[in-house]
Amino acid sequence: MNNISNILLIYTGGTIGMIKNFETGALVAFDFDKLLLKIPELKLLDCTIDTISFKEPIDSSDMNVDRWIELGHIINDHYENYDGFVVLHGSDTMSYTASAVSFMFENLTKPIIFTGSQLPIGDLRTDAKENLITAVQIAALRQKGKPVISEVGLYFEYKLLRANRTTKINAEHFEAFQSLNYPSLVESGVHLKVNTTFLRPVNRRKKMVFHTHFDNNIVVIKMFPGINESILKGISALPDIKGVVLETYGSGNTTTKKWFTEMLTALIKKGVPIVNVTQCAGGSVEMGKYDTSVALKKAGVISGKDITTEAAIAKLMYLLGENLPLKVLKTIYETSLRGEMSEN
Ligand code: ASP
Repeated sequence: MNNISNILLIYTGGTIGMIKNFETGALVAFDFDKLLLKIPELKLLDCTIDTISFKEPIDSSDMNVDRWIELGHIINDHYENYDGFVVLHGSDTMSYTASAVSFMFENLTKPIIFTGSQLPIGDLRTDAKENLITAVQIAALRQKGKPVISEVGLYFEYKLLRANRTTKINAEHFEAFQSLNYPSLVESGVHLKVNTTFLRPVNRRKKMVFHTHFDNNIVVIKMFPGINESILKGISALPDIKGVVLETYGSGNTTTKKWFTEMLTALIKKGVPIVNVTQCAGGSVEMGKYDTSVALKKAGVISGKDITTEAAIAKLMYLLGENLPLKVLKTIYETSLRGEMSEN
């Protein structure tokens, strides 16, 4: 048995591979092969690395569903030939893409590790080298001939986090991501410390299933004091809306104004799922805890529990793509599918 892992490194774009445009001074995506020349250390790692790149690497602000699927296909097409995957991606929307990829791959038995950097790899003070080298090392970790990680992770600044639990919280610090509702999976110090109890259990007898239908006819509504009735009613009357992520206050609270609850009730009656997620960085939705969320529960609003907004969006697009009746969608949505929410 070959005990060395074969890793596929996929470059989608992002700061990690960018250089300054002479004319504008802005950072733009760069040629991937040239990028790799900047990290000769990769050759010293105890694994083989093949590379593949998006034809046109992008700033992750330009990510969309088609590109999620393009990335999914790259992984799926090479799934049998590699032991692990490392995806280089801009940090701005990394949590969204990584969440979507976690829903794309059911019964994953191999690691898919997302990473990137705050400074380009050519910069003297770059954080790219450590992020990339350790992400590859983590993807290559094995025990008894099998990968140690068998889920979608996000590695940044000495921590591997469950990808669909992450949020970008800082545009300046090297520690750009946090996972407030779930502990780190691996910590990188002098040694790599794997927090085995928090890893997703793997069932190798189940076949991996690749899902590619994401329905993006959704809207995110963030509550704020003074939210405008006619604007919201205008949005909710749009014929194409198939789902709503409602970012609420605290443990799932909203205004108790009649027009607001009536609008939500009418949407749900039309078959549009509404998912309640909290605006807070940590903690969980608990509808019924305060009077200000009782009506939502009654109306049939789905509890996003402690899910992040990023994962809530990806999960809603994924389940809408599965064409489920609303009742079934609600039950499945309130169940953890890829470790994206706590069970209770
Ligand atoms: N704007 C960049 C991107 O998301 C930022 C980064 O790579 O960190 O592609």
